[in-house]
Amino acid sequence: MKENCLFCKIIEGKIPSEKVYEDASVVAFKDIHPKAPIHILIVPRTHLDSLASLNEQNIDILKPIFLAAHKIAKKEGVLEKGFRTVFNCNQEGGQAVYHLHLHLLAGKQLGGAMGG
Ligand code: 5GP
Ligand code: ZN
Repeated sequence: MKENCLFCKIIEGKIPSEKVYEDASVVAFKDIHPKAPIHILIVPRTHLDSLASLNEQNIDILKPIFLAAHKIAKKEGVLEKGFRTVFNCNQEGGQAVYHLHLHLLAGKQLGGAMGG
């Protein structure tokens, strides 16, 4: 729990969210401004600012995030049709909330523009 971190507050239930999945390691909830019919944020319970803070000691944080993405994609019925996962990292990567999160986007044909 990092003070004044929006996603830590959501994890703690201090700020409401539409949770779609949770386990011992991660919480997943609907993005408040969805960019696709399905837009879910998968957030580790342990605070890490961004991928820029990743190292040999904390890399295990990624495993439950991707396992959750797989489970959520299956639950939402898009595992076979397809989905996209995105980590925005730091300013030029378009990161707005500095608590690591994986975007899971699905439910329509996603555009080909990866950068913009
Ligand atoms: P970033 O740009 O940091 O990769 O993504 C942050 C995401 O968090 C954005 O897509 C934004 O819509 C979402 N977001 C920001 N504030 C809230 C909030 O209070 N609740 C939820 N559910 N999503 C939020
Ligand atoms: Zn946090």
